[in-house]
Amino acid sequence: MRKLQKGQKLVVATHNEGKVREFRTLLEPFGLELVSAGELGLPEPEETGTTYEENAKIKALAATKASSLWALSDDSGLSVYALDGDPGIYSARWAGPNKNFDDAMVKVHTSLMEKGAMAPGKRTAAFVAVLCLANPEGETICFEGRAEGTLVWPPRGTSGFGYDPMFQPDGHMRTFGEMSESEKHAWSKDKIGLSHRSRAFSLFVKDCCPDD
Ligand code: IMP
Repeated sequence: MRKLQKGQKLVVATHNEGKVREFRTLLEPFGLELVSAGELGLPEPEETGTTYEENAKIKALAATKASSLWALSDDSGLSVYALDGDPGIYSARWAGPNKNFDDAMVKVHTSLMEKGAMAPGKRTAAFVAVLCLANPEGETICFEGRAEGTLVWPPRGTSGFGYDPMFQPDGHMRTFGEMSESEKHAWSKDKIGLSHRSRAFSLFVKDCCPDD
């Protein structure tokens, strides 16, 4: 698959405005014109995959098919090793219809207690993000970023979102909930970012974005 070109219009396959903002900030330096699936009024496909990559592909292919533009999607979640990868692709759903992540974090903690996973070494987890670029010919390319860490209890910090307050990345004493956005996501050509999403982005940029 060829690289994206300067000025090329790209649809971000999401209806989540927070994600659109994040994609815009990250891709601004590459001179791409971004429009979101939400702004174009594209239908949201059902996420019927069993892996992050399958779901990311479903979203990117649906957006490119409906718009005839190249499309970029992402799928992400928290995979807890002692829970056989749960909540994983169901991370958003564990928060219920009210998107209550305090409840979702209690659910993760309770599930770990039921497994007797009290010691930090038994509470390891990874945040995973998969980005998928699709073109109208139906070609796709995916990039996976991971952030390894330990789940703490009680949760700490009020920054970020989702499961951030209970996730302490390896090599750090603070949770993502106690870090600033730039500390969590920052990356550059010479520096690997801390978060799963920024790691997936740096791989994507290297292979797919126009050289500046
Ligand atoms: P999706 O990628 O929109 O399907 O949602 C993934 C879900 O995973 C989010 O709703 C969060 O619960 C969780 N998640 C993904 N990335 C992060 C993160 O960076 N911090 C906290 N939670 C996250």
